[in-house]
Amino acid sequence: MDEKKKKTGTDELPLMQKIAALCKRRGFVFQSSEIYGGLKSCYDYGPLGAELKRNVMAEWWRSMVYERDDVVGIDASIIMSPKVWQASGHVSGFSDPLVDCKLCKARFRADHAPVVEKGATVEYRKEGKTIKGVAERSYVCPECGSPELSEERQFNLMFKTNLGPVESPDSVVYLRPETAQAMFVNFLNVQQTYRLKLPFGIAQQGKSFRNEITVEHFIFRSCEFEQMEMEFFCEPEESDKWLEYWKQERFDWYVRLGAKPENLRLRTHEKDELAHYAKGCYDVEYQYPWGWGELEGIAARGNYDLTKHQEHSGKKLTYFDPNKVDPATGKQGMHILPYVIEPAAGATRTVLMFLLDAYDEEAPSEGRAEGRVVLRLHPRLAPIKVAVLPLVKKDEWLVDKSRAIIKEFRRNSINAFYDEKDAIGRRYARQDEAGTPFCITVDGETKDTDTVTLRYRDDMRQERIKVQEAVDIVRDKLRD
Ligand code: ATP
Repeated sequence: MDEKKKKTGTDELPLMQKIAALCKRRGFVFQSSEIYGGLKSCYDYGPLGAELKRNVMAEWWRSMVYERDDVVGIDASIIMSPKVWQASGHVSGFSDPLVDCKLCKARFRADHAPVVEKGATVEYRKEGKTIKGVAERSYVCPECGSPELSEERQFNLMFKTNLGPVESPDSVVYLRPETAQAMFVNFLNVQQTYRLKLPFGIAQQGKSFRNEITVEHFIFRSCEFEQMEMEFFCEPEESDKWLEYWKQERFDWYVRLGAKPENLRLRTHEKDELAHYAKGCYDVEYQYPWGWGELEGIAARGNYDLTKHQEHSGKKLTYFDPNKVDPATGKQGMHILPYVIEPAAGATRTVLMFLLDAYDEEAPSEGRAEGRVVLRLHPRLAPIKVAVLPLVKKDEWLVDKSRAIIKEFRRNSINAFYDEKDAIGRRYARQDEAGTPFCITVDGETKDTDTVTLRYRDDMRQERIKVQEAVDIVRDKLRD
């Protein structure tokens, strides 16, 4: 696999393998049900991973909801009426073309397979020999390159279950494959109770489920994942303007949180890529170790969703604007079906992106015999904000003082971590790997001067600060 290699280290493992190993070693992400051999495509977030994911989602909420007057949040049920998914088109249309390789038995998505010219001669391995064959499709098996393939079958991606004790066609419900539909079906509830005027948005975060055929690249694509979506309702004639606004806003959000701009790009969807109802779409893409791939989609959906829910529910979902004159009747007041711009991001995929982007290896250098692994996460995303370390654990005074400092951080809702095990260098190294931006060391000098050492993760600079200033200094650096 053509995986990007970091140049700084001596160890030449591909980056994805290093990230997966770090995640397991340090408790970011574990394979689900590991003691039973693991469950494919399911992951558990450990102590550091849970914090990182929460921080990513909290930053999204802050920028999308708290810092704006025109967006409100909801938290809807994962299980919704099956009629929602009939109206949205997910029951009939949310499927992938599934193909089996007759040779190596790999099962894959036709639209993800390597492209070849139909009728072209392709080489592949069969029973230990390289042979030639004719491609009867425009793709071959991604595993062995064989053109000997089964027919394409459509496979619905929604997880089905039953609501209530009886398993019957009437009790079938689905786990939501996206969070977006709850915003459409609650459009009027939210607009009326909150007295919202166009343009306005409804945001939601939470779990979504897709029975993906090819789960790949660790947490990049899994069957259970977390989304962060917002539906922004606006006047039809303002849709183009808001699409441009939101694509830039969303791109800038990743950069503000420390993603390297050279690893990000905005890609405009070609006409033939667009869903039939979509008026335009951009993807925020990241340069993953295997190439450019989607991180978030920002789509102009027109009034497709509200129209469909109106048709299927029989309920009017129009917005009433008392200030407009209806051109059809000449009367004051007009009912309109707003257009929608949807920025749809994956929280778990964003976690992977920030881990990849933040990962760094430093080779040994002058004055430092050992190299180090450091996660250069933005301080706001870092799972632990500050580690407080007594220089020696046998000195009770240092331990008590460290505990007192920790308490102050916690009183200020700053996630602080206490560590007294091993030599101080080892402890710094552990925090570098966990992405902790600041370490505070309490030592003998603290007794005389009431000062501590503040060490910065990124450049390992150390400075002496007053104990009573510690919380303010760290809090200040957490502000953006
Ligand atoms: P892809 O083309 O990668 O399958 P999509 O276009 O189907 O993604 P959307 O339906 O637009 O994805 O969902 C919005 C976002 O949700 C995606 O940009 C991605 O970040 C995230 N997402 C979608 N499916 C998955 C998945 N199976 N695992 C993790 N994240 C996902």
